[in-house]
Amino acid sequence: MIYDIAILGAGPAGATLARLIHNGWRVIVIDQRNLGETAGFIKEKCCGGLLAPDAQKVLAEQGLGVPGEIMSGPQTFSVKSVDLDNGITRYYQRHYLNIDREKFDRWLVSLVPGAVEKRFGCIFKDFEDCGDHFDIHVHNGLNEGIIKARVLVGADGAGSRIRRKYFPWREGTEYISIQESYETNDVLPHYVSVFDKSTTDFYSWIIQKNNHLLLGSAIPGNEDAVAKFSSLRLRMRELGYISGDPVKRTGTFVIRPRSGKDIFTGSERIALAGEAAGFISPSSAEGISYALRSGAMLAECINKFGTGFSKHYKKRTGVLRVNLAGKNIKAMAMYGRLARKLIMKSGILSMNVNPRRLHE
Ligand SMILES: Cc1cc2nc3c(=O)[nH]c(=O)nc-3n(C[C@H](O)[C@H](O)[C@H](O)COP(=O)(O)OP(=O)(O)OC[C@H]3O[C@@H](n4cnc5c(N)ncnc54)[C@H](O)[C@@H]3O)c2cc1C
Repeated sequence: MIYDIAILGAGPAGATLARLIHNGWRVIVIDQRNLGETAGFIKEKCCGGLLAPDAQKVLAEQGLGVPGEIMSGPQTFSVKSVDLDNGITRYYQRHYLNIDREKFDRWLVSLVPGAVEKRFGCIFKDFEDCGDHFDIHVHNGLNEGIIKARVLVGADGAGSRIRRKYFPWREGTEYISIQESYETNDVLPHYVSVFDKSTTDFYSWIIQKNNHLLLGSAIPGNEDAVAKFSSLRLRMRELGYISGDPVKRTGTFVIRPRSGKDIFTGSERIALAGEAAGFISPSSAEGISYALRSGAMLAECINKFGTGFSKHYKKRTGVLRVNLAGKNIKAMAMYGRLARKLIMKSGILSMNVNPRRLHE
């Protein structure tokens, strides 16, 4: 049997596409993670798990509210920005939702209609273009198999195999993200963002997830990420942000699109959505809203234009390109040492926090 559409990846982009695509298509969605109701995970998604206002807005637009059991704790209302390059610290009010990312992905998948076939715990290896369809080579941990589909959608994130084959990332856009988890009995009353040129030209973060602190960083892919992360860890220990040994470490790629040249939505019978297409903020690495939006836009174009969706999808996502251009301008102010110094020194948009209550 030949499917009409094979969606590779059931993260926010793939799950949204699978949820919104019309019933008339024979659709299969494949993911290496076990995202079904009861199964455990083969591989956990490495993520800070903050649902930014943009993502909250898209969910609202899609008629969705996040169930309570997906929330993590504490819910905090500010970011402490620690600029180690300039020796300045400021607090900024922020409205993120602190969520459990695995539960969030599982919830989105649970909304995909039963008519869509789901193949979880299934690794996509490669594919061949056979003219009128693709042969997709998969492995379920025990056996190899071939799935046939007329249209291929890469919603497989920053490490996308389809993206790498057709439109590899440009130099300087691929970052390696490492995240470690530390046990804690305290409540950190804010998120922490760390600017430290000796670690990365992007940023590092500390986010509490119940009784664990996540220390993470996104480091340029051409640098020794492990060594850079080790010195960040040391620094954060010296400054008292973390203590003890990590109980868990995860790592993955994260993309930092520098211009419209880094966005690729696909060609005739192949489409890319979410981070695989390059849709992620270059200023904050917020990618969930872009994944939800591009997944929905692709569903809309396939539903309306059938297999002739490609040029319409490219046009439809123009609004995301414009948005990312704006984020690149923001990134220049945030990550230029002098510009950041001026902004943080001025105190503009910052808030006062009573330090005695923070045990500092
Ligand atoms: C450390 C880190 C922290 C982040 N923190 C945040 C945050 O707090 N808030 C935010 O909004 N964004 C954050 N992001 C970005 C965000 O996680 C991504 O941009 C977003 O998840 C992209 O969604 P997606 O659906 O495009 O891809 P993904 O969420 O990456 O989903 C891709 C799916 O494809 C599957 N897959 C990949 N390859 C294969 C294969 N070969 N075979 C089978 N399945 C495969 C994966 O298992 C996964 O389920 C963070 C990213 C990183 C790396």
